[in-house]
Amino acid sequence: MNAKKAIILDRDGTLNEDLGYEYKIKDFELLPGVIEGLNLLKDKYIFFIITNQSGIGKGFYSVDDFWQYTNHLTEYLKKNNIYIEQVYFCPHTKEENCECRKPNTIFVNEIQKAYRIDLKKSWVIGDHPSDVMLGINSGTKTIYLITGHGKKHLNDLEKQEINPTYIAKDFLSAAKFIKSHPEEI
Ligand SMILES: [Mg+2]
Ligand SMILES: [Zn+2]
Repeated sequence: MNAKKAIILDRDGTLNEDLGYEYKIKDFELLPGVIEGLNLLKDKYIFFIITNQSGIGKGFYSVDDFWQYTNHLTEYLKKNNIYIEQVYFCPHTKEENCECRKPNTIFVNEIQKAYRIDLKKSWVIGDHPSDVMLGINSGTKTIYLITGHGKKHLNDLEKQEINPTYIAKDFLSAAKFIKSHPEEI
């Protein structure tokens, strides 16, 4: 039996617009191409979200606020026939040096064990160098998005010599790249 494949998604700046510490539903806005892109991929991959939410640790919003916003997002996707299997979040600040903040791989390892995922055939998609590092540290392929904070951090990516499998201008291009990847054809 073939092991399952996953797409591990960042949340802010990847799926929804990131105004900085997103938690208000009134600010919720899905990024262009996300529905279309996820629809292209949903037959072959299971979707997960892993998100760093240091705004909780900093006291800007609560865990409840986080879930309200996230549930709003996943419900919206569900209405478009897209299912997020599980959401994992790190509520800590960087200074807390926790084990769950991306690019630490604890949540990916959990996913791998619980769902028997083939990480080599899976992808991490995100708009921050730490998303790419998460994929590299976990042995997945990676896509760096220029949406969200992606443009701003592109320099860091280059300076730190972090090499994603692909750099995409938006979510739909990312999905099309994955679909056309040699292993997928
Ligand atoms: Mg992000
Ligand atoms: Zn954490």
